[in-house]
Formats: sequence, C-alpha cells, structure tokens
Amino acid sequence: MGTAVTTTYPTAGLPYPEDAPVSQALFDRAQTIVPGGVNSPVRAFRAVGGTPRFMAQGSGPWLTDVDGRRYVDLVCSWGPLIHGHAHPEIVAAVQTAAALGTSFGTPTAGEVDLAEEIVRRTAIDEVRLVNSGTEATMTAIRLARGFTGRSKVVKFAGCYHGHVDALLAAAGSGVATLGLPDSPGVTGAAASETIVLPYNDVAAVEAAFAAEGDQIAAIITEAAPGNMGVITPREGYNQKLAEIAHAHGALLIVDEVMTGFRVSAGGWAGLHPVDADLFTFGKVMGGGLPAAAFGGRREIMSRLAPAGPVYQAGTLSGNPLACAAGLASLRLADADVYKRLDELATTIGGLASAALAGAGVPHRLSYAGNMFSIFFTENEVVDYDSAKTQDAGAFKAFFHTMLARGVYLPPSAFESWFVSTAIDDEALEQIAAALSHAARAAAAAGSQA
Ligand code: PLP
Repeated sequence: MGTAVTTTYPTAGLPYPEDAPVSQALFDRAQTIVPGGVNSPVRAFRAVGGTPRFMAQGSGPWLTDVDGRRYVDLVCSWGPLIHGHAHPEIVAAVQTAAALGTSFGTPTAGEVDLAEEIVRRTAIDEVRLVNSGTEATMTAIRLARGFTGRSKVVKFAGCYHGHVDALLAAAGSGVATLGLPDSPGVTGAAASETIVLPYNDVAAVEAAFAAEGDQIAAIITEAAPGNMGVITPREGYNQKLAEIAHAHGALLIVDEVMTGFRVSAGGWAGLHPVDADLFTFGKVMGGGLPAAAFGGRREIMSRLAPAGPVYQAGTLSGNPLACAAGLASLRLADADVYKRLDELATTIGGLASAALAGAGVPHRLSYAGNMFSIFFTENEVVDYDSAKTQDAGAFKAFFHTMLARGVYLPPSAFESWFVSTAIDDEALEQIAAALSHAARAAAAAGSQA
C-alpha cells in the first residue's frame, strides 16, 4: 500500500538532521523520559550511530517511518513476521478476538488451539504459554533446577536467551551490540551458578561436566545461534549436548525463540532432530503480538504449578489477541511458505555477498536455515570470539547506505537478517540497487580502518 503518513509533529525550523526530522523530534522527546529513548536497547542505533527511525506503518514487505520514508524490512520485528506486515488474515483474527474481549484471566479456547498447533509441530508433550522469550527461558531454567534438584546452568558465549539474570553472562544480541560487560544488577550468586563455555566446542562441555557434572541442572543453547550474528552449529552438535547432559543426569534446553516456526514448520529441531528435554519458543508463534512458550517431556512439565510444585504464572499469559495472532500466523505457515522463505534468504544473501565481493570487501555469509547474516571479516566464524573479529566501521557504512536507499537492516552486526514471504520483485529490486552502493561504502570505510 505504502500510504502517505500524516503526522502532527513539528518539523519546521528545528535543528534536526534533514534525513529524519520527525523521528529525531520523537527521539528527543523520548530521551527525556525513557532511558536511552527506547524500550529495548538495540533500537537506539548505538552501534551504528544516527537517528533511530520511528516507524508509523507496516504493509507487506514495507515499513514507512514518521518522515514518510519507505523501507524494505529485513528485520521483521526481530523475527516474528514471516508473512510480512499487517497480513490481512492475521489482522482479521486479532480484530475478531479484540471485539470479543481483550483479556479474561480465565482459560480460553484459543489457548488450547495454539497449544495443540505447537505440540503438533514439535517434539514436545506439553506446553505452557507465556508472554516473552525471556519468561520462557527463565521458567525453563527454574523447571530444570526444580526437576533435577541442582543449581548450575551451562550456557554458551554469544548465545542470548533474553535478559534473565542467570543467562546474561556473555550474552549476544543487545549485550554484544553495545559491547557491555555482564550487566550490573546481576548478583554474584546468580552469575556464579552460570558456567559460560565457547560455542561449538564439545570438548569444553565435556570438561565442564567432568569437573562438576553432578551440580549441573541443564545446558541451555540457542537451537542455532542468531544473536552473535548467525552461526551454524557443527554437524551433530546439539545432539552431542543432549548426550553429555543425559550421561550426567542433567537436562538439555533448546532455545527456539528465534528459530522456532521460522526455519521450518518444526523449527531448527524440525530440520535437525535432537533429544532435548525442554524447548522454548516465541516470536513467530505470537504473530507479532506478545506470546511465547516452553514445553517438553510430560514427566518434566508435570512438575509445573498447578500440576506440580514449580511455580509459574502470568496475568496475561495466553492472551486471546496474542493467541489469535499466533494461531493465524502458524496456520498460514505451510510448506510453500517455508520454501519461499528459504528461496528469499538464498537470493538476498547471495546478492549481498556478490555485491561485497565485487567491491572487494572481506566478509562471510552465514546461514542457519533461512536466517542469515554477514560477518565483515575474512575469518571463519564459529563462535563469539570469531564473530567479534568483524570490522564494525565497514558494517556501519554498509548499514547507513542501505538505510538511505530504503532497506531496513538490523542496526547491529551481531544480529540475524530476517525475510518474510511478502518480499516481492519490487522489494528485491530495491534491495539489489541499494546493495551495490552499500558495498562500495563498506569498501571505502574498510580501507580507512
Ligand atoms: N531467546 C532467543 C534465542 C532470542 O533470540 C530472544 C530474543 O531475541 C529471547 C530468547 C528473548 O525473547 P524476548 O525478547 O521475547 O524476551
């Protein structure tokens, strides 16, 4: 549609950068009352500089900002929107649900429908709906501790599982983007129960379990990491984690918040089955509204309140609007959708890599299913340390040129690019045209370094 955006915000005569005056005005207002001006850190553009764009509207593959500029969206709300913006069936499902009441604090049929759809697509027996991926991983850890009677948790450097205290150590995503050390406010006690190991390194996991395997409740891992840029797990890596954990009486938690229902109907485990004990989900299963979930073997899930003693609850858990959006999104996601997402990821990643190669920019194009990212380095990227060898200046120049030419990329070199089936020929042409300029800008920035 790309309808013109009308706005009541002042633009004339104010000292804002010319390219995004209305966004800048909003950002100025926000910064006086919201820490950093945003409600989630990566949105603030700190890693790339410049004015974060305040979006006014999404339609199919397009985002329109408050200044009336249109962008092809390769962020898709950080993953959820596999069908693009404002898909008519998802909008209609939410409107219908809203007209019936926004929240009841009682069970509803929609929760059962969504739970059945999730269980049908995955290898879990039971599922509990929550509001965010953070809540899902936080509770999965609590449940693993309650089930095993142990306290320690193994996580991998560069993997992000939300802002759970125990899991912020060496986290990816915004923590990596901002170059933060582990967060102040996380107690020594919480951090001391987290064992951080390098990703893709089975020997390190074996050594940790040899040393203190009888105290470890669980290993948590991203099904395929997307929060230090996209990294492919080595062949059989997740299954090996399951074997090591089980040999020591610990659980494996596979975090599919990002990969779940995006990279295949059954997530990463749908492509590479793994004997995990618990899985976490989010993003796509909420269809753009706040919904997430965790689930696993009945023996473990039955320890959750009210069936068992491990407590978990939520005023808005299983919210009717979120369930309606999530169910509509999942029901639309058939085999053709996943085929199209895969094709688009191959095409766009290929175009980007060709443009960068043509401009002589060292880079690595890395995929996990249809999630992908480009590392501005010539080194092979297998873990967080190798991901951090990127040339941040080259990414910054690349990002801003893409933005100026109407392509919205994640404003960080440590994030996945996300495609939607709404990307059409016009959007692809706009991406291709922007890429040749962005690659030249990256080359110029890289040669200055
Ligand atoms: N786990 C993974 C793998 C994620 O990518 C994220 C968010 O990006 C989370 C957990 C946290 O989800 P949320 O932001 O909904 O709390």
